Amino acid sequence: MPAKEIDLLKEKLISMRQDILQCLQHLDDGWQYLAEKDSEFEEEAQKADLSELYAQLDEREKEEIEAIDHALEKIGSLQYGKCEGCSKQIPLPRLQVLPATRFCLACSAKAEEKERIPPAFP
Ligand SMILES: [Zn+2]
Repeated sequence: MPAKEIDLLKEKLISMRQDILQCLQHLDDGWQYLAEKDSEFEEEAQKADLSELYAQLDEREKEEIEAIDHALEKIGSLQYGKCEGCSKQIPLPRLQVLPATRFCLACSAKAEEKERIPPAFP
């Protein structure tokens, strides 16, 4: 892959990371405000709902940051753009849409299929 393209994708990854961190910061501020407000009004039900939502967002965003960091590490070790499933080059248009992806389309579909298999109950 041309170094120029990798540079562009690297910039994109870094700005994506900053966006997520900024978003998390806003969530933290909002959460603190709600926590203070709740101690006055004791809206326990609402608090539980919000805390659940917050936990979900936090988890998803943490995963995104991990994926971005992983991609940046791969750029550093010159492994960027290589599928971790089949070791083939991930097509550039896919990387432009999903710069933090670890898999080519075929391997990503396979990984999703695996996750969709329901756990076996005894
Ligand atoms: Zn693959």
